[in-house]
Amino acid sequence: MSPEQIQQKYNEERDKRLRPDGTAQYLDLATSEKFKHFVDDPWLDPHAQAKGLRLTNDSRVKILVLGAGYGGLLFALRLLEAGFKAEDICIVDSAGGFGGTWYWNRYPGAMCDVESYIYMPLLEETGYMPQHKYAYGPELREYAEMVAEKWGLEGRTVFRTVVSEMKWDEVEKEWVVEMKQKEGGEDDLDFELRASFVIAASGLLNYPKVPRLPGLDAFRGHCFHTSRWDYRYTGGSPEDPSLENLKDKRVGIIGTGATAVQAVPHLAKWAKELYVFQRTPSAVDTRGNRPTDAEWWQKETQSKKGWHRQRRENFAAFVSNVSPPPSIDMVADGWTTMPSFSALVGGPAAAQVTLETIAAHVASLHALDFPRSERIRARVDEVVNDKTTAENLKAWYPGWCKRPCFHDEYLQSFNLPQVTLVDTDGRGVDRLTDHGVVVEDSEYNLDLLILGTGYNSPVVGSPARRAGFSVIGCNGLSMEQKWDDSGAGTLHGIISRDFPNFLFPGPQQAGASANQAFLLDLVAEHVAYILSQATQKAKAVGLEKVVVEPSAAAEQEWSMRIMAGAVAFAGLAGCTPSYFNREGEFARISTQEEQMKAAKGGIWSQGLVDYAEVIEGWRRSGDLKGLEITVSN
Ligand code: FAD
Ligand code: NDP
Repeated sequence: MSPEQIQQKYNEERDKRLRPDGTAQYLDLATSEKFKHFVDDPWLDPHAQAKGLRLTNDSRVKILVLGAGYGGLLFALRLLEAGFKAEDICIVDSAGGFGGTWYWNRYPGAMCDVESYIYMPLLEETGYMPQHKYAYGPELREYAEMVAEKWGLEGRTVFRTVVSEMKWDEVEKEWVVEMKQKEGGEDDLDFELRASFVIAASGLLNYPKVPRLPGLDAFRGHCFHTSRWDYRYTGGSPEDPSLENLKDKRVGIIGTGATAVQAVPHLAKWAKELYVFQRTPSAVDTRGNRPTDAEWWQKETQSKKGWHRQRRENFAAFVSNVSPPPSIDMVADGWTTMPSFSALVGGPAAAQVTLETIAAHVASLHALDFPRSERIRARVDEVVNDKTTAENLKAWYPGWCKRPCFHDEYLQSFNLPQVTLVDTDGRGVDRLTDHGVVVEDSEYNLDLLILGTGYNSPVVGSPARRAGFSVIGCNGLSMEQKWDDSGAGTLHGIISRDFPNFLFPGPQQAGASANQAFLLDLVAEHVAYILSQATQKAKAVGLEKVVVEPSAAAEQEWSMRIMAGAVAFAGLAGCTPSYFNREGEFARISTQEEQMKAAKGGIWSQGLVDYAEVIEGWRRSGDLKGLEITVSN
């Protein structure tokens, strides 16, 4: 096909999928009696006592870190390095253990899609060698536990505790944080904690979403979301995903995103019949996972101080399409040969884009992307035997519109006689009955329905909304209200005026890459620096309390820089709906005011390496420019 024909096909396929209800097509689980248990923690014994730190009502901590995933651990670690003591820190998580994403997601086949040598944090500090180039879920979770143990953070962490609200106390100059702890066998315990600083390392993709399908309530078979896998039903375990109990079961999975791509090969292997309900296919490239060669690892890492950062930067440079690229491609995988992903995460080319050159910029991104996308579509034909199935598995959108996938068994699963792809031609499944799923005139009877339908979109709302609670700052201002009224407003994507001493790792107005763990580390160092400098200012004059927030001018200036970079993301306008573009809602924005708000909610346009240089340069200047710091008794 010519580029024009491909573009036309992209537009046709996108138009099929644009729907008026956008993000409203999904159910708010918190308000659904029938489905609110979908967010409950299946991994802990409800009768066991919570492990970790015990808090009492009215406890006071210096720094509360919300989230015990890789982000929370990195924040805690960098704070310790900056001179804070373990007793200054308290980590809180609704989960029963460390790991965040990797605590919750234990579906069969879960693994990181970014090389573990750059994804797993603190490898230089721990000296840990990941077992494979792409690590599996159990190892990623156990590594989080190992990090927590090494730095003595277990005793500083409160598990099974949900933060529900936080309010700024203007008199005491601290946050009052409302929490609910799930107690073993007893009623939930409500309590209040006071914290000088709060850091929200609450993640991007942790609140499962479920489509509002007609008949959802009617289905009487077993049903769960992939992030809360029910091994009691399927058999097996995260460590040994032999799903023995499915041998006599008809299983359906709705969704064909990055999660389903990893889980389907396991379901295909064990289920009597497997139906994969597809609305939009993923683009699935090869993976090529392999065990880590210990000798190579030794050579690559041992005598090279700073190797981890260097490898991460090298990866980020390729993904941002830095020109000319670094002379060595250290990671050398499907990501580093995908410069068109810079359309989503930004890169140096953004600096040159103006209103006049937008069209040429987007055309250049497509020119980078067409050969890759065509190769991946051709791969489907090479792997999948049935011609119709192969045609339906081809992704017709630019590679940057959804998380690209990499797997060596997913497409192959569709050659198995027990596996059926039920393609819905972009409409999604029509409805559920008490027995199964209906698509067009066919009903598929199922014993088990798995929802691989993803998470609430991380690009909707403020950091407070992403963490699932309300944040009330100075003068009773709600953070969500600030975002609704005027759009995102931060300095460096980490702190917002009127919400003093509250810090968060973007994603709005911060840098981005395919490797989220690198951003988390950069921001953790930045935040640790700011908090230590601010606290030292108070100490220097013999005072205790310190309040940090960006000045109005600095916030405005940073937001303007983010807005100015928004033109570089014009390639996203042609994307098929997904959580990246609020299920297509961005395409419907018509007023100038809404356009400006959307632009303010964007990311640093010139890529993660550039973002790192900007914030590190700011730190080197040493004057905390743009932050208002007040100290008191
Ligand atoms: P999380 O790991 O999400 O941890 C946040 C924690 O905060 C959670 O444990 C949550 O329970 C807790 N929390 C949130 N709100 C509250 C509250 N109100 N009260 C109490 N606790 C709360 N990114 C990559 O770069 N590469 C990958 O390969 C990759 N693979 C992924 C695979 C899956 C299945 C998913 C879902 C995401 C993946 N991601 C990947 C994105 C991933 O989320 C990040 O890489 C990273 O794990 C985020 O770490 P985090 O600590 O910021 O957030
Ligand atoms: P996604 O949001 O990517 O996928 C959800 C799937 O459900 C999509 O295929 C979607 O179709 C489909 N869907 C939603 N509603 C319906 C409906 N009514 N009928 C039919 N299908 C429907 O969620 P995932 O959990 O797969 O992934 C989320 C993110 O988590 C990824 O983008 C990635 O960032 C991360 N992740 C990374 C992994 C890794 O490889 N390490 C593994 C897993 C997740 P449609 O596309 O049409 O909306």
